[in-house]
Amino acid sequence: MADQLRADLLSLPPDALGRVLIDHFQARGQPAYRAGQVERWIYTALAPSIEAMTDLPRAEREALAERFMLSEAEEATVAKSQDGTVKHVWRLADGELVESVLIPTEKRLTLCISSQAGCAMGCTFCATGWGGFRRQLSAGEIVAQYRASRRWAEANELGPVTNIVYMGMGEPLANRAAVHDSLTILNRGYDVGARRITVSTVGLVPGILELAERPEQFRLALSLHAPESDLRRSLIPLERRYPLPEVMEALEHFNEAGGKRITFEYTMIAGINDAPELIEPLAELARRVGAFVNLIPFNPIPYQDWHASPPARIRAFAAGLERRGVTAAVRESRGRDIDAACGQLRAHALVHIEGTRG
Ligand code: SAH
Ligand code: SF4
Repeated sequence: MADQLRADLLSLPPDALGRVLIDHFQARGQPAYRAGQVERWIYTALAPSIEAMTDLPRAEREALAERFMLSEAEEATVAKSQDGTVKHVWRLADGELVESVLIPTEKRLTLCISSQAGCAMGCTFCATGWGGFRRQLSAGEIVAQYRASRRWAEANELGPVTNIVYMGMGEPLANRAAVHDSLTILNRGYDVGARRITVSTVGLVPGILELAERPEQFRLALSLHAPESDLRRSLIPLERRYPLPEVMEALEHFNEAGGKRITFEYTMIAGINDAPELIEPLAELARRVGAFVNLIPFNPIPYQDWHASPPARIRAFAAGLERRGVTAAVRESRGRDIDAACGQLRAHALVHIEGTRG
């Protein structure tokens, strides 16, 4: 593919982007301010293409496009839920499909983005897991979801995107280089505060340790789902490789790095991981690392005949945690009707359409 020869302007962290642009324009005998013009088009104007950078002379746009590309995500479908949640399926340059979700609440507009096409982790309660791994996303393809979602939100009067969570398709810490670059780009290029960005992981220890090394206060969510290794292993195959005690040590290390904040995600599945006896060990883990616990009613997926824990059971979990000094919230499910809720992302409808199109 020709595009492999061209560097993606969206994949470069701001420092590196500045340098290559200055070199590029210098080599062409152009004034230094051209680099600043391109940076403004990228970070402020959210230009969808090099062609759209209209204050560059045409010849300069053409020369730029010969060496560089903008890995824009093309909107394949958009679906709006009754509760206001909006799911986009984006088509990448090679036809691969990924999803992102805009979740409006009173004070925020949270964007949930994908870090991989598919996921290799195979968690038994997750639709993405059942779909298997397709490929890694580049930093630019991660950032492109943010840019395109922001443009869509602005055009549809949803206001500015205030928060970003890496909770779409894929395991972000299994795509470390691109995810780290994308964090830098979103934070320093697009000025999204580190504390407004959450990376969610199923527990890849080396990735947690690496994130701890970063000076910025990116937030971390651990998809816990069970407070004991045996039970966790039946839900999350990765537990075999990185058992809970090791994950907890990594989280302690993450905390020691200072100013960081950990959340536990706990999907509540009736009769699977919602026994009242689990409240105490869960509270113990949360207290150890000062974690906030998000209880998420299980969202139905086609591959398992499982159900969400009854609301009373979920409330009892929350109350039990609070009694033990742990802050917990029951996360309302958003976008279920459009398969945009946690664990339902899999770009399935479109894969089908693409398949029949030949
Ligand atoms: N791979 C990362 C990030 C993407 S998953 C991770 O697992 O953390 C985003 C969140 O949705 C995770 O907390 C995941 O456990 C949760 N989830 C997956 N399947 C779900 C389902 N069927 N119902 C509710 N939550 C689910
Ligand atoms: Fe992958 Fe996260 Fe789904 Fe597990 S829960 S299969 S890690 S996306």
